Amino acid sequence: MVTRDLVTGAGRFAPSPSGDLHLGNLRTAVLAWLFARSSGRRFLLRIEDVDRARARPWHTQLDDLRLLGLDWDGPIEVQSEHFDRYERALTQLQQAGLVYECFCSRREIAQAVSAPHGIPGRYPGTCRSLSEAERAECRRHRQPALRLRAPVDHATVHDELSGDYTGDVDDFVLRRSDGEWAYNLAVVVDDAAQGVDQVVRGDDLLSSAPRQAVLAQLLGYEPPRYAHVPLVVDASGERMAKRSGGLTLACLRARGVTPPQVLGMIARSLHIDADTLPDLLAHFDPEQLPRQPWQVG
Ligand code: GLU
Repeated sequence: MVTRDLVTGAGRFAPSPSGDLHLGNLRTAVLAWLFARSSGRRFLLRIEDVDRARARPWHTQLDDLRLLGLDWDGPIEVQSEHFDRYERALTQLQQAGLVYECFCSRREIAQAVSAPHGIPGRYPGTCRSLSEAERAECRRHRQPALRLRAPVDHATVHDELSGDYTGDVDDFVLRRSDGEWAYNLAVVVDDAAQGVDQVVRGDDLLSSAPRQAVLAQLLGYEPPRYAHVPLVVDASGERMAKRSGGLTLACLRARGVTPPQVLGMIARSLHIDADTLPDLLAHFDPEQLPRQPWQVG
């Protein structure tokens, strides 16, 4: 194990406060903690409430992490307290000519990507080359979103579990038309500001990593190391979602399953025979982690 003195970086867990953490979120939190602690990194907690309309109180999320025995370093960061950071990053990109206004509605984008040359999931660049006069006219009718003028159309990141992964980089949104900051900007700026050099999270976000790595480079940051971990799925193979009331710690406790037993379930799902967090840490080996979703129920 690397000693803390040798490594200055940090790992983190960054839940969105859109509901109680379910078994999949808890397992990702445990994995993020294990990756950080086993490599001598600090472990940070960040509440990603950038989407303020969906944010709910998050004290239960913290209680649940504590019940599993997880600890973290320093104060908890809350995204909505750092909007000035995002503003500075946006200004930096604007000054480099890397931002443009987009007036497209969701429907217009959906129609454009379903056209013969459209590519699903990629913004088709409709507003990329508008003239100043066209933009002025559009502004009279709609508030623009701000998009990155992406200098590449794909990029490759290295993932500790999936290996090299190449994915789309399109002109993604930095600030929404309602003025809210976009997740992709906030996550990149916050990770850099907090000294996070190890990002462990669910593999539903693997396809976002190339966009985020490119943005990090444009802002002059070293992209972090990535480990995207498999999700938890139910008996029919559907992934658990916070809002659909997946298995939460409260719901497991109501069925008589204690937090240490939940930790034991998580350990077994990682093919580690351990009942406590220190035991899990002692036996943790990223190379041996299962690469398949964990099916529960
Ligand atoms: N806030 C995101 C979520 O709860 C995670 C983002 C990240 O780890 O980069 O799904």
